[in-house]
Amino acid sequence: MGAQELQFIDGARRTGSGAALSVLAPADGDVIVSGAGADASDVNTAVAAARAAFPQWAGATPGARSDIMHEWARVLRGRAAEFAAMESRNAGKPIRLASEFDVPGTIDNTAFFAGAARNLEGKAAAEYSGDHTSSIRREPLGVIGSIAPWNYPLQMAAWKILPAVAAGNTVVLKPSELTPLTSLLFAETAIAAGVPAGVINIVTGTGAAAGQALVEHPEVAMVSFTGSTGVGRRVAAAAAGSVKRVHLELGGKAPFVVFDDADIEAAARGAVAGSLINTGQDCTAATRAYVQRPLFDEFVSRVADLMDQVRLGPVEDPETDLGPLISLPHRDKVSDLVDRAREAGAKIVRGGRIPDHTPAGGAYYEPTLIIGAAQDSEIVQQEVFGPVLVVLPFDTDDEAIALANDTPYGLAASAWSSNVFRTQRASREIQAGCVWINDHIPIISEMPHGGYRASGFGKDMSTYAFDEYTNIKHVMSDITGLAHKPWHDVIFRPR
Ligand code: NDP
Repeated sequence: MGAQELQFIDGARRTGSGAALSVLAPADGDVIVSGAGADASDVNTAVAAARAAFPQWAGATPGARSDIMHEWARVLRGRAAEFAAMESRNAGKPIRLASEFDVPGTIDNTAFFAGAARNLEGKAAAEYSGDHTSSIRREPLGVIGSIAPWNYPLQMAAWKILPAVAAGNTVVLKPSELTPLTSLLFAETAIAAGVPAGVINIVTGTGAAAGQALVEHPEVAMVSFTGSTGVGRRVAAAAAGSVKRVHLELGGKAPFVVFDDADIEAAARGAVAGSLINTGQDCTAATRAYVQRPLFDEFVSRVADLMDQVRLGPVEDPETDLGPLISLPHRDKVSDLVDRAREAGAKIVRGGRIPDHTPAGGAYYEPTLIIGAAQDSEIVQQEVFGPVLVVLPFDTDDEAIALANDTPYGLAASAWSSNVFRTQRASREIQAGCVWINDHIPIISEMPHGGYRASGFGKDMSTYAFDEYTNIKHVMSDITGLAHKPWHDVIFRPR
């Protein structure tokens, strides 16, 4: 395919002013489209468009915004197959995953936030002082600068844009320059549904050329970032310069705790699905399975058998279970981490290599199962973001909880047991934004997603996310009509 306009500003596709960039297909390395990336001047134009669109959009009634967003969900439903094919090709996702997870999830999110738009919440208005009526206004903040990663490009664009615009804000989103295509299409469908020009703008460029300019822009009221903990730290520091509100959804290293009374078949299947989803490039993926010693060998053997059945292949083939990693450099990073674990004494039970029979030029890596790694080793402590599951044993419940909490991250976790007291304890004591019981991965629009500790703060999805894109204003109205109010006497007494 030839050159394409990779920016979407003020309701129309545009050519960027920055360096040339090519969007590649991870499954075969082919160029899907190329064009000019965004630089700071494109960010300025996009922020100006978003500022200009703000008064009208913020002033629309919640019902009017809701109607447009319901129409948007309808438009998305009609183009679901197109979105799935594009997401599959650009992000290297098996078409089944794109069609049955990414796209329906995004449509459901759009419909959810269409409803949420009408549900601004605050305390009841009341006379708390006795002399005034106090009420709460929830107001949009202004222009939101959003930055998204490459692993779920469409869903991440949706998680950033939907709560913000439902609350009356306008948005400039910088997707990863590796995966901008569905974000651009998402913005185009918003226009088709009636979202006014300038409410949603997409600047496709690198973090250095476009992301940094967006974070530092004086007219941006809030930065909403999803990505790695390292870049999140830099974003927070840059936003501090202009005292912007910051929302950070960062990395994860989810533990998967299997107690000795768990249904081992359910746990083994859950571990394979939970670790291999999106080729392991999922911030909530099961990465560290802690299995109570009596079940350890059987668990490892069942997971290995299931991993043997996983089919790697072309992403457009509905029979393919596991697609490539996002790029060859990322595949090499995953491969190096596994090699270093092997050199440090861990045993690679399955995988640990680049497969032979996958499409040429694709960034494929075999499903990998590792045992014998040390708790403090790199492979257990650091985000791998690949199809790699490490399994470690434990003896007591206290030890399991301590191990689960023993990384800097705290995004998600799961506990597997048939004993309600054990699962209740795990849900209470594991420090993570989500704890699944006897499952791992499912997400829903109604419930929040977000981290503890180095996994960041702020929630995506749910009405909690909606609230984060609002300012709370207290309005206090005198109801006495007195010129000489009793409290004035504290300050001065007319004599
Ligand atoms: P990165 O942190 O490398 O990048 C995220 C985004 O930030 C990209 O668009 C990137 O642009 C941009 N960026 C880079 N540097 C800057 C900067 N100085 N200023 C502003 N923006 C910048 O993450 P990845 O894209 O590699 O995504 C994977 C990470 O995302 C993993 O750590 C994963 O855990 C996390 N993630 C977290 C989720 C959550 O909900 N907590 C969900 C999904 C992913 P560029 O592409 O040019 O680098």
